[in-house]
Order: sequence, then C-alpha cells, then structure tokens
Amino acid sequence: MGSFQNPKPENGFTGTIKPLDPEEFRRQGHLVIDFLADYYNNIETYPVRSQVEPGYLKKRVPESAPHDPEPIEDILRDVQKDIVPGITHWQSPSYFAYFPSSGSIAGFLGEMLSTGFNIVGFNWMSSPAATELESIVMDWLGKMLQLPSEFLFSGGGGGVLQGTTCEAILCTVVAARDQMLNKIGRDKINKLVVYGSDQTHSALQKAAQIAGINPNNFRAVKTTKVDAFGLKAEALRAAIESDIKSGLVPLFLCATIGTTSSTAVDLLPPLCDVAREYGVWVHVDAAYAGSACICPEYRHFLDGVENADSFSFNAHKWFLTTLDCCCMWVKNPSALVKALSTYPEYLRNKASESKQVVDYKDWQITLSRRFRSLKLWLVLRSYGVANLRKFLRSHMKMAKNFEGLIGMDKRFEVVVPRNFATVCFRISPVEIRGDRQIVSKDEVVNNLNAKLLESINESGKIYMTHAVVGDAYVMRFAVGASLTENRHVILAWKVVQEHANALLTAT
Ligand SMILES: *Cc1c(COP(=O)(O)O)cnc(C)c1O
Repeated sequence: MGSFQNPKPENGFTGTIKPLDPEEFRRQGHLVIDFLADYYNNIETYPVRSQVEPGYLKKRVPESAPHDPEPIEDILRDVQKDIVPGITHWQSPSYFAYFPSSGSIAGFLGEMLSTGFNIVGFNWMSSPAATELESIVMDWLGKMLQLPSEFLFSGGGGGVLQGTTCEAILCTVVAARDQMLNKIGRDKINKLVVYGSDQTHSALQKAAQIAGINPNNFRAVKTTKVDAFGLKAEALRAAIESDIKSGLVPLFLCATIGTTSSTAVDLLPPLCDVAREYGVWVHVDAAYAGSACICPEYRHFLDGVENADSFSFNAHKWFLTTLDCCCMWVKNPSALVKALSTYPEYLRNKASESKQVVDYKDWQITLSRRFRSLKLWLVLRSYGVANLRKFLRSHMKMAKNFEGLIGMDKRFEVVVPRNFATVCFRISPVEIRGDRQIVSKDEVVNNLNAKLLESINESGKIYMTHAVVGDAYVMRFAVGASLTENRHVILAWKVVQEHANALLTAT
C-alpha cells in the first residue's frame, strides 16, 4: 500500500494514474486532433521561420518537472503559447526551404496507428505483421519505381525501412566494407576508399567516418557548372586509378539523383560501368528526387540503377509520409545481414531458426524498430499511384511557374537547370555590377544575395534556404509542402521582388 495507491487526493492528485485508460485516451486524443486541425487552419498566420532568440524557452517554462499532474487542456494551451512561436512551420504553404517534409492525413494516421500499437518489431516473431507488411510495401514501392526485380524480395533482393538516409548509407558502406575485407583481409581497412562528388550529401562522409574508413581516403570528386554539377565518369575513373596506383582499394561510390544543393543528377550508366570495372559497390542516393521517379516522365533519371548495388529515397521528404521513413533496397541482402547481424540467446526463436523469415534487426543499426510500414501502406492505399503522381506533378508545375516569373524579371537569373520542383536563382551579377564582367567567387554578388535572402526570411512571409554551387550563392525555392498552391508561389515571388526592390534601391 504505497502512496501511489492512495485514493485520497494529495495536492489535487485523484488516485493512481491510468496511462492507457481507453476513454481518457479517446477524449484527450480528440482534443489533440482538434488542436492540430486548428493549427493547419491557422498556419498561414504564423511567421514561417521561427523568430525566437536562442534560449527563449527557458524563460517561459518552470525549472523542474511538475510534482503533480496537469490536465491536457493546460498543456495544450502552453503548446500554443510557448511551443508554437518556437516552431518553424514546415507544413506552411509558404515553406520553400531545404526540402519539404510533406505531411498528409494518411501519413499522420499511419503514424498514429503505429504509435498506438507501439510494438517493437526487431524480428519476425516480435510482430509478424510489421515485418511482412514492410516487405510487401517495399516490393509495391519498388515496382512503382520500376526497380529491377533483383532489388525486390520476389527477385532475391529486398527492401527495408530505415529511419533516415544517413542510416541507409552507413548500413550499405558497412556491408560493402565487410564484403571487401573478407576478401582482402581485415587488416586492410586503412586501404579502403569511398567516392562521391563535391555535391554528395554529408551523410556519405559521416558514414565513412563511422565505418572506420581512413579520413584520407574520402574522395569528393569535383564537379563543374558545365556538367550541371553531375559527377562525370571520367573524373571518377581518374580518381580510382590514381588510388589504385597508390596501393589503395576502391570500395564504395555514392551516386546522387537530385543533390541537396541544386538537385543535380549523377548519370548512372557510365558511373556504374566504371564502378563495376573496379568492383566498387554503388549506392544510389535519391533522398529527395526518388519520389518523382514514380512518374513515367521522370523515371529516366533512374536508368542504370540496374547496375547499382543499393538504392534509397526518403518517403519523409516528398512522399506524404511523416518523418522518419527512408526506403532502401539492396540486391544482396546477405551482404547487409553478414555485416549487421547478431543472434543473442534471448532473441532465439523457431521462426528465425527456420530461415524462412526476415529479421529486420539484421538490416539496420538498431535492434528495436518502429512499425513504419503502416504509414507508407496508408499513404499508398489512401492516395493511389495515380494521385501521388498528380500531386508530385503539381509541384513541378508550380516550380516551373516560379521559374517563369523569374524569367520575366531581368534582374534575376536561374543559376542551374531545374530538374524537379526546386529552383536555384539569384539576383544576377549583371544587375549588381552594371557590367558583364565575370568575377570568380564574386563576394559582392554573393553577399547581396545573402542579404536579400535574410531580409526575406526575417519577414516571416516565406522561408527559403540557400546553397553555394560553383562559388555562386543561390537561393533555393523548393516547392513541396502539402498545403502549397500556385497562389502561394505567386505571392512568394512578390515577396522576393519587394525585398529586392528595397535592397537594390538602397545600394
Ligand atoms: C536530405 C538528403 C539526405 C539526408 O537525409 P536524412 O534522411 O536526413 O539522413 C541525403 N542525401 C540527399 C541527396 C538528401 O537530399
């Protein structure tokens, strides 16, 4: 009879807590859904980029956790009052920063079901539906992307849901590493070389660091504007041959479809040819642009993937699925499993022993894993392939419209060709300098564009982020928030023009 059971209210605490009382769950759950529905309704009234100063929250909340319980109504009131101001509104229709984090009812509800069941699906036995649905959904998605059958379970490969691309790349690097070291000897780890371009996401470098690749053996092969910042096969070959000459062992290439800075595309067929020649594992990172490839007119960007070893894209970026959800396929799951499996006594079971089931714990870093496939399943079923394609195309069209608006204002230029729904643009050097002089690493031009972007973002009306490609500072306009309509794009352009007017007349 501890005080926990005390039926007498102590400081307003009425008896024991019931953390999963079904009726309270129903009542409070409805309050939260209503709260979020109102949030989406009012989202346009908030500054898109949060305007708080560092440390703002410490001033608003108590110094320690409450001793007594507080009602959900009070907590939600504080979420509105204290948390919402510190939120950058990724779901705002005027959010054009980074890449989208596309939300949807189906993705949300799938997440909710997954959280509600709250299972820990490390192996098949721990929740057969979690493993089986994941395998099925990954084959569905693989077919939507027209991945070659070797990537599907039905063709001897298979797909897995990782949390993020960082994890996907790390797992494939580790699989490639162990496959190679088993051939050439564990003591040769210092010889292994990893390749990407200077546009490759930092996820590759992180993976190489964690995987124990010698930091001197990380190659970021240079790209140029002439090649639209795609990695050239000849440049890759030159890097590989020079490494071989130095006695090193080429291990891994990360090719990107839709780079983070400018959505550049590494042309897969020639890169895979070179990689194959030297026995290099090829991972294709299509974190952002992979979604678009479910549309037949964008599928050509994946041509050549049949000669890669692994492929991944983030459903949590532009595929209506809430964070986190990175879809990854491998041709040879056993390479992954050999590098990542363990089989302690407490996890031994008949199903695993039978070798007839997938134990996803052996396809990833962590043991415990979420039931992520539910949200993808809901997204695929609720919208269907046809509407998903329409949705993606609507973003391409809006980005194209934005590009058209830029084209009508001679002060601006689109800096790299648009491949998907992201436009990289800036005030042109001609406008700023008043002449056609080309200055490499043009600080004056870069600084003015940076100043423009900051003044736009400070206004809170829209939010964009920047990139530096080939020494040029560019503003990135990434269309993809689920609530964005063309009117928001038109409005965004007006905001850009107004701020440019003010800046250009002041200088
Ligand atoms: C966003 C992005 C990543 C990183 O994705 P995470 O899921 O956050 O790890 C990697 N590569 C590319 C090309 C990206 O755009």
